[in-house]
Amino acid sequence: MITIKNLSVAYTTDDKARQNKTVLADIGLSLSAGTVNIVIGPSGGGKSTLLKVIAGLLRPTAGSLELTAADGRQPVIGFMPQSCGLLPWETIEENVELAAKLRLKKSGASAADCGTMKAQARELMKQLGIDALAGCYPSEVSGGQQQRAALGRMFLLNPDILLMDEPFSALDELTRSEVRQLFAQLIVSRRQDEARPMTVLLVTHQVEEAVLLGEKIIVLDGRVKAVLDNPYRGQGQASCSGERSEFVHRLRRLLDREGGSEP
Ligand code: ADP
Ligand code: MG
Repeated sequence: MITIKNLSVAYTTDDKARQNKTVLADIGLSLSAGTVNIVIGPSGGGKSTLLKVIAGLLRPTAGSLELTAADGRQPVIGFMPQSCGLLPWETIEENVELAAKLRLKKSGASAADCGTMKAQARELMKQLGIDALAGCYPSEVSGGQQQRAALGRMFLLNPDILLMDEPFSALDELTRSEVRQLFAQLIVSRRQDEARPMTVLLVTHQVEEAVLLGEKIIVLDGRVKAVLDNPYRGQGQASCSGERSEFVHRLRRLLDREGGSEP
């Protein structure tokens, strides 16, 4: 569960003549546990800033942020930055295992736990079609394969809150739809673990991607312009429902900077 109230973020500028730059103003959001939420908005609208604040990498200037896991404990947070965040000097397998390994180390896990984690990593890599690349370095594989490895890392960590900044943007159209599908499958398999529902916040600037993946779509441009429940999740562009196209148009209008917000 993510609860954000009256949150603002300003970047301080070195240039004394200029004021501090407010990039997010008075943000209020409440995201339920186990839901997939999309943040969409124009470039420079503060999407990455919002994710960094939730990930704890950036301190808000005002307001409050509350993150809770289903059972009330401190949630594990997974953050997939826009650049994938793979370490170039580690192999694909080591990169997939990285976050889970750190978490196990922190919790003083046994050798048996590490063995289980490694087996799960293998299984995930197989599912993602990168098991044959386990020993390669990121520079030796394609952009799509790097993004698969970054996804594998996140799903192996199995966080309570998963933050993803434009995770599919660097991919060509064909690979993008494949990796998106893998993501949707992983979410479904993760849903079976009812005791630990995963809350996802995914940034995109593509309307079709938002409608395909999100249960809730948040339009962000310095402030929250709209929060829409999306009844068309899982339905591709091919679905020729008139209501779906009207929904897509409504989203496009909201994304238009001149378009203002809905009441
Ligand atoms: P988005 O991800 O929606 O494209 P960002 O959150 O990256 O937007 O950026 C929002 C605004 O904040 C932009 O105008 C950007 O130039 C500015 N910004 C981002 N990071 C910094 C920073 N470290 N210092 C100053 N300004 C920044
Ligand atoms: Mg960004």
